Order: sequence, then structure tokens, then C-alpha cells
Amino acid sequence: MTAPHADSPNQLAPARAGNQPASSLRDIRKNVEINIGKACNNRCVFCIDGLPKAEDRSYMPWEQMQAELERFYIDGYRSVGFLGGEPTTYPRIVDAVAHARALGFTRVAIATNATKLRLEHFTDRILAAGLTRITVSMHGHTAELEDKLTRVPGNFDKKCAAIRMIVAKRKADPSLLPDGLSVNIVLNGWNQPHLTRMMRFFYEDLGVDDLRVNFIRPEGYAEGDADLTAQYKVVVPNLIKAVVLAETHFRKVFTFGGFPLCVLPKALRSNHALLSRYMGEFRDLSTACSIRSEGGDLIPPGKVPVAGSWTQQPKSSTVRFDAGQQRARFNWQDRKRHDLKGHPRGCASCDLEPICEGVWKGYLEIWGDSEFRPVKLEETALASLPVQQGAPVAR
Ligand code: SF4
Repeated sequence: MTAPHADSPNQLAPARAGNQPASSLRDIRKNVEINIGKACNNRCVFCIDGLPKAEDRSYMPWEQMQAELERFYIDGYRSVGFLGGEPTTYPRIVDAVAHARALGFTRVAIATNATKLRLEHFTDRILAAGLTRITVSMHGHTAELEDKLTRVPGNFDKKCAAIRMIVAKRKADPSLLPDGLSVNIVLNGWNQPHLTRMMRFFYEDLGVDDLRVNFIRPEGYAEGDADLTAQYKVVVPNLIKAVVLAETHFRKVFTFGGFPLCVLPKALRSNHALLSRYMGEFRDLSTACSIRSEGGDLIPPGKVPVAGSWTQQPKSSTVRFDAGQQRARFNWQDRKRHDLKGHPRGCASCDLEPICEGVWKGYLEIWGDSEFRPVKLEETALASLPVQQGAPVAR
């Protein structure tokens, strides 16, 4: 393995210092998420890829996968996640996990819809290859809700079978998946009223002990869909009920992501212990991404931006395009802040602006920016955190 040249135009742009809140709970391993291609066996109503082009549905060539793993390992990354599309459909996924472990990655994860994991021979192979973490995308606690959201009849039963089997395997062998098994829920207008029922289902019926809810990113199929993209003022009361239940009853890992601090109640945003326990941004690993791209990031080819819209942007300053490999590489935290999220008018006078990622642009297109009000640093738990470059400053 040879190190990439530091001055290569294809080198990852350096992450902005202070682009995550300081937290002693964060796993300090540098993480890279490698997208294996956008082919998927589900058709989720909120999929950000919508209908991918044929080229995007093709899988990453194996030689490129090996090279990509080696590139990031040399660069000091010790955690890798495979995502898609659906990574379990990648013909070399087991080899990719084994190669990552052979290189020395100590945390190797997949983000999967889990339908293929119900096949025990496949699950046994990928676990034996050295997988250390599985995050299952599942968004409903009933067959009706899950199958409606993923648009594949029978999905609910397949996912439940997969999760039950993996939970049983971990009970029999506690050394399996040392970095955990979690269920990731995309919180949207259809499932958010059922959040506490979903918690009960996943924790008590399926035996999962780690739940993450991510606020919907209204792009792809969900672009412009106000029904799927519930407003924060509707979702937050249900989120708070969930946090209270997590704190007082379930006492398992529960985190949420994609909620700016200004939409959270003062009692939560001013409590450092609660924030660092429940706000996912305090725990998320510093993450790079590697994804197939034809360049021209931000405005998709052929799409004419509407003047004055949130999506009208100059080209990204955070994405490095590798023309030879047809891949884009970037830091995920910076990409969200600079490209995918917008800062509403109120942010200009908000003390948290230097660190806050902002709000998904698709959300701002649907609902505007009037609900986001500036916050004083002393009203938040961030006031007691160590000062670092890029961190908020009191005004
Ligand atoms: S910077 Fe903007 S979005 Fe973030 S907390 Fe402040 S007002 Fe809300």
C-alpha cells in the first residue's frame, strides 16, 4: 500500500475543526462510509436516491473497493461502513468485510434493510467475515406501516425474522457484533405519531437495545412532500415523549438526529447530560463518505435551479471529485452543513450558528424558515463545553 499524495486533487478536503459538538461519549475512530452503488431491493417512499440512473445502480468494481479501503486505512481510518442502495445485494460484500478486517479496520458496519439477513447462511458468512456492527433500516412497528413505507409487501415479516435471528445469535454468543445492532428509523409524517409504540415494539418485542431516529431528508421520492415531511412543531412533542420514556422506562440506547437545537425545548437543550445521551450529533463518529459520482455535485444534471430557492448553490467546496475513479469524497458533517442543509434567517443572530448544521434544504423548501429562532449560548448545554475552533461563541 502506498499513501496518496497529500497535494493530490483527489485527496479528501480537510474536515472543518469543531464541526461536531465536543463529547466524551463519541467513538474517536475515524469512520468512512463507502457507497457500493444505488441498487436496492426496497422502494422506500422517502428514498433520497429516487429512481437512480442505470450507471448509479451498477456496483462498485471489486478492484476499486479494495483500493478505496486501502486509501482510507492509510489515511488513519479504522472504522468503515458499507451502504447503498442495499449493501447486502453487493456480490462482494462478504469479501469487502473480510478485506477491511484483514487491513486492520476494527469497526466494520453495514447499513441494511435486513431483508437478506433473514437468510441464515448469508448472515453467518458475513458475521464470520468479521462484521462488527449492523444498523437495520426499519420504520414501522406493524406490517401495514412498514410495508407502506418501504413499498414491498412482506418486508415487515422478513425484517422481523432477521432481527430476531441476530438477537438470538448474540444472546448465544455475546462476542458477536461488538459494535452493536441498532434499528434506524427515518422519522416522517406517517410514522412519527407512533414513535413510542415503535420503541416498545423494537425494545420489548424484538429485543433490540439501540434505536436511532433520523428526521426525514425530503429529497428524491419525498421531495416537496408535506405529508411525509411533518413540521418540527408537530414532531418534537412526540420526540420529547420518547426521550422521557427512554429516560424513565426503557433505559436503552435511544438517539435522535437532524433536529436543530432551536426546535428543542429549553429544558432539553440546556441539559448537557440529556443532550449528550440523546442527541445523536454528540455521539456520531467523524465520518467521511465515498460515493460514485460524475462530478458537478449539488445541482443534478439537467435540473434547473429555481431562482431564490434553497437549492440554488455554487458548487460544493467540501466535495473532492476523483474523475479517474468517478467517485466523490467528502466529510459528512461538513457536507450537511455547507451543501445539504440551509441556515434560516434567524441563524444570523444565533450563537450556535458556527456549529449548527442547519436544516435540510428540502424541509425549508416545503415549510419555509419562520419557525427557527436564534438561541443564546447560555441557554444551552454547549456553554459548558470546552472551547474549540468553530465552536459557538457567546454574543
Ligand atoms: S443556527 Fe439556526 S437552525 Fe441552528 S439552532 Fe440556531 S437558529 Fe436554529
